[in-house]
Amino acid sequence: MVEINGKTYTCGLIGNPVEHTMSPVIHNNLADATGENLVYVPFHVATGLLGDAVKGAFGLNILGMNVTVPYKSDVIPFLSDIDPLAERIGAVNTLVRTSEGYKGYNTDMPGLLRAMKKDGVSVEGENIILLGAGGVARAVAMLLADNGASKIYILNRTVDKAQKIADEINGYVGKNIVEVKRNDEYSTLPQNVKYLAVQATSVGMYPKVDEAVIEDEAFYNMLHTGYDLIFNPLETKFMKLTKASGANAFHGYRMLLYQGVIAYELWTGKAVPDELAEEVYVKMLAAMNVD
Ligand code: NAP
Repeated sequence: MVEINGKTYTCGLIGNPVEHTMSPVIHNNLADATGENLVYVPFHVATGLLGDAVKGAFGLNILGMNVTVPYKSDVIPFLSDIDPLAERIGAVNTLVRTSEGYKGYNTDMPGLLRAMKKDGVSVEGENIILLGAGGVARAVAMLLADNGASKIYILNRTVDKAQKIADEINGYVGKNIVEVKRNDEYSTLPQNVKYLAVQATSVGMYPKVDEAVIEDEAFYNMLHTGYDLIFNPLETKFMKLTKASGANAFHGYRMLLYQGVIAYELWTGKAVPDELAEEVYVKMLAAMNVD
């Protein structure tokens, strides 16, 4: 591990809560492996103290920060600059120190794309069912549209929220690439294609691991791949149902890895090779007590 001395850089995580974060495992192992004199620590930031935290971090010469729930949007007014992707998504999960203050980035979406590539899942030309219309689903819909998805069907319990996302993206790309449905209307989707489904609801997350947002076998028979963004548990009910239909299923733990890897690359200016990312991934699995 890094020997702390007068030249050690500090990076950290701000959020509330931060007690169960895996980010120290990612960044301290990366620092160790790349020989960077850097340590990463979680900072619990209480309600109402976000501005003080960002200002204080800058005053303490902190090199970079991750930002987690509930501050990913709230942090934006405290930045000196924002990357265009993060601005469009409206959420920042990484702060990078500049001479004027912190510049905000979103590494969650590039992280998801890198994880999907690693898992052998392509977006280009795909017919995609996106389950959910929350903050993450909105960003995922943008990512899918930006990366050549042929068609995106957003299925959500609250259709209005999905419609808002669809209007925004269709306006941005200049054609009707996104359509919306209620969760129970999946049988009205074209049945002559197989779909990539991205599960971006919170249904099935620990501790409610026996739930899936759609439980009908007929839905899963429409898929060739199911990609769940949930990472706890590592095999969700959505994934079990996907596998039972003969389709491929993936979880969100690699997305978590790669959002961290990309943040680390922004802070240090050094590319993290895939083999090293995979070594860190094994350490994350060990920290979660699974092989
Ligand atoms: P959010 O804004 O709270 O949105 C939650 C979504 O789940 C909404 O679409 C909501 O539908 C739906 N939902 C919740 N309970 C439901 C129920 N009982 N029945 C049907 N639909 C239900 O959450 P978020 O911030 O977008 O996060 C979504 C997921 O992404 C979380 O599970 C999180 O673990 C995951 N995530 C993963 C990573 C990673 O690195 N792998 C990073 C970030 C987030 P309504 O619109 O109808 O309420």
